[in-house]
Amino acid sequence: MGEVILHVLGTAQDAGLPQPNCYCDNCTKAIDNPTFKRRAASLAIVLKDKNQWHLIDASPDFKEQIIMVQRTHGMEGLVMDSIFLTHAHIGHYPGLIFLGKEAMNTKNVPVFTGPLMKNVLESHAPWRQLTDLGNIQVQAIEQGISTNLDNDVEVTPVKVPHRNEFSETFGFWIKGPKKKVLYIPDIDSWDEWDLDLVEACKQADICLLDATFFSESDLSDSGRGARDLSEIPHPFITDTMERLKSITDTCAIYFTHFNHSNPALKQNSDARDFIEKNGFHIANDGMTFDL
Ligand SMILES: [Zn+2]
Ligand SMILES: [Zn+2]
Ligand SMILES: [Zn+2]
Repeated sequence: MGEVILHVLGTAQDAGLPQPNCYCDNCTKAIDNPTFKRRAASLAIVLKDKNQWHLIDASPDFKEQIIMVQRTHGMEGLVMDSIFLTHAHIGHYPGLIFLGKEAMNTKNVPVFTGPLMKNVLESHAPWRQLTDLGNIQVQAIEQGISTNLDNDVEVTPVKVPHRNEFSETFGFWIKGPKKKVLYIPDIDSWDEWDLDLVEACKQADICLLDATFFSESDLSDSGRGARDLSEIPHPFITDTMERLKSITDTCAIYFTHFNHSNPALKQNSDARDFIEKNGFHIANDGMTFDL
């Protein structure tokens, strides 16, 4: 049984931390001290023995994120074996541009995504050039149908409700030889989901869940450059915790996809304490899980 590592490459909402044009406390701290910076949400699945790796979402921070994978696992110069995409928001797919002619100029990297997203990538510039020139090969995947990366390793999309202007939105089940992970970086609401959150999380050993906003108080102190949160539905961390508090002993629940305004980003904040004292965890860029 080969060693399989899940590598967390980014834990911020699409715009990252710092968010462009924002000088709120969290962003200023990340501008002044890069150790507080967070890249847009993304994961890698690394198959150590096979010397292969797979990327989940190609974020705007793609350039740094592939170095994280390659340098950590001794895979310098090794192109990813495939890419899985959740949806067509800017934190989740623009990194694909670096596979093109002006940069890596890859050959037929499989890109797995939903049929609507496949259409976006194949029909519209500049993405279309990637398939026209054979840099990527887009393959449609469906809810509940697994793609095997190795004997004991599979990725299975699960549809989630989200503002779907251009594409459907997927989360992913990621199963390794030892552990099963549920990854939902973006969702509008747990109630609108086809699955029951508690039952879904019970099937996983580790969950990485949408932590865009902490609570309603994010609305009041979101700082300059902030977006109107009422137009951006996400479950609050406090709500997700309330729903999952009975299963924290059996499932390790991590929060990810933090908006720049999220008070839980601050170390020693009341928000961070509240999360950790109740048995939940904050995902950090660079952390790894043995799958
Ligand atoms: Zn997002
Ligand atoms: Zn900010
Ligand atoms: Zn989104």
